[in-house]
Order: sequence, then C-alpha cells, then structure tokens
Amino acid sequence: MIPPLARRFVAGESPAVALEHVRTINEREVSAIVNLLGEHYDDRASARADAEEYRELVRDIGTSPLDACISVKPTQLGLDVGEAVFRDHLESVVAAAAEHDVFVWIDMEDHTTTDATLEAYVDLAEEYGTEPSSDAEAGVGVCLQANLRRTREDAERLADVPGKVRFVKGAYDEPADVAYTDPERIDRELETLLTYAFEEFDGGIAVGSHDPAMIDHAIDCHEEYGTDFEIQMLMGVRESRQYDLATDYEVAQYVPYGDRWLSYFYRRLSERKENLILAGRALLGR
Ligand code: FAD
Repeated sequence: MIPPLARRFVAGESPAVALEHVRTINEREVSAIVNLLGEHYDDRASARADAEEYRELVRDIGTSPLDACISVKPTQLGLDVGEAVFRDHLESVVAAAAEHDVFVWIDMEDHTTTDATLEAYVDLAEEYGTEPSSDAEAGVGVCLQANLRRTREDAERLADVPGKVRFVKGAYDEPADVAYTDPERIDRELETLLTYAFEEFDGGIAVGSHDPAMIDHAIDCHEEYGTDFEIQMLMGVRESRQYDLATDYEVAQYVPYGDRWLSYFYRRLSERKENLILAGRALLGR
C-alpha cells in the first residue's frame, strides 16, 4: 500500500488507479503522460513484463475517452541487458501504441544511455512518427537534457525528425567532462535550447519544468515564433499552477504508478527541503 504522503507524487500501484487519476486531471484540461515505475533491470524477464504491461496500457488508453500518452525508460525496457533487447521491447510498445493512436515518450536516463536512446528514437520516429503539425495522436518523442554538453548538437540533429522533443534541465548527477554542473549555467542552456527549438522546430516542443522562469521563457518564445508547444510537469509538483496554465496552454502531467514507487518517491522528496520537512512531520504525526 502506498502511504498517503507518497500518493501526492505516485497515482497508485495499478493501471486502473493511475487511469482514474488521469480522468480527474482531464476534467481540469490537463492531459497525462502515464509512466509505469521501473528502471535498470538486469534481467530480461522484468523488461519483458513491463513491455507487456505498456502494451496493455496503451490498449486501455486507446479504447477509453482519456487524454493520455505514455512515457517509458530505456533501462526499464532492457537497455542494461542489451541494446537489441531494449529496441525489440520499445518497438513492440510503439507499434501497439500506434495501433491504438497513443503517443509514446522516451525518457532520457544518464549520459551513458544517450546514444542508444537517440538512435532508437530516430529510427522509430522515421517509421511511426507523424509531423508535429498533423492531427494524429500517435508518434514518438524523446527527452533532451540541458545539463549535457552534447545537447545543442543533439537538438540540431533532431530538428527535422518527425517526432517531439521534451527539453528538461536533467535529473542525473553527471561528471563535469560531459555535463554542466552549475545550476545557473544549466538554466541558461535550457533557455538557449528552447529558443533554438521554437525557431527551428515545426512544433512538437515540450518544456518539462516547474521553474517559472523556464515556463515564462517558453511562453515568450511561443508568442514570438508562434510554434506549438506544451508544458509538462510532474504529478504532485505545483499542481495548482498546472491547472491555471491549462486554461491558456497545453499542459500535460507526468503520472507515475506501479509497485516500484519507493525510490521515485524519495527522489521527489529529496529535491526540495520543504518536502523533507513535510515528510518528517507526517512521520511524527504532526
Ligand atoms: P527546479 O529548479 O529543480 O525547480 C523549480 C521549482 O519547482 C522549485 O523551486 C520548486 O518550487 C518546484 N519543485 C521542483 N521539484 C519539486 C518537488 N519535488 N517538490 C516540490 N516542488 C518542486 N529528467 C531527465 O533527466 N530525464 C527525463 O526524461 C525527464 N523527464 C521529465 C519529465 C517531466 C514531465 C518533468 C517535469 C521533468 C522531467 N525530468 C527529466 C526532470 C528534470 O530534468 C528536472 O530534474 C526536474 O524537472 C527539476 O527541474 P525543474 O526544471 O523543475 O527546476
């Protein structure tokens, strides 16, 4: 059972509970990016099981009136076991999602996975992608991290790929030879990347951030260049702002679920001092 404090960040343990949460946020004009929690599997069976669950999930989403897509992690689909295992599972999920008109995001993990993730994305986008300006719901997208030094070049390479790109600051502690480590520098990089994307991409841009400065920057770029975009935020983080923004912009909430919720929950708690204080109070019953 997920304790009440963790329920702020994790929808529940089953897909049915996650989809019930999706229904409630859809009522407030926020779409959902549903993620089955899991990463770094070193056995084929776990990766196979999660790929199977995603295939069922896209069927459930596609046959419902819900406004939702999914997001998968490469190491959840077997990248640590082998690149071929990851690509087979990812392709099976993307093919099932295309059949049900459901979009698939590929999360980006640490820098050792970037090449394999982008190669898989580009191949699948060429096969299943749709131009961001089309009305089709299906397709694939990938995440690029502003903290990685390589990302400007990656963004240029992805500009003409028929898919979507989510720009984020980057969640992994990376070594200084591959990544910027100064938070202000990362913020500047994210702003530069967003400006580039709004200028050069044919839509399909997402800003995955809770930072008001980054969201304002994306809105300013949208007003200047007219390019379509969406704002993506996590379940449980600045939710009232998500509902406010959804009255004027496309907003999607990342909705994690599953029984592997504990490490995700700790990550969210440790991102912010106030969260740790809240957790401490809850544990002490105050
Ligand atoms: P921050 O400067 O960290 O936060 C800005 C403000 O948001 C804070 O001041 C605070 O008010 C609020 N806030 C942030 N976190 C919390 C919290 N836990 N609790 C309460 N308030 C909080 N990273 C990857 O590396 N790969 C991915 O695939 C990826 N996908 C993502 C998808 C989405 C939809 C989102 C929102 C983020 C994703 N990230 C991913 C994480 C991202 O890289 C950042 O680590 C994360 O979003 C924190 O950065 P921030 O831009 O929100 O700014």
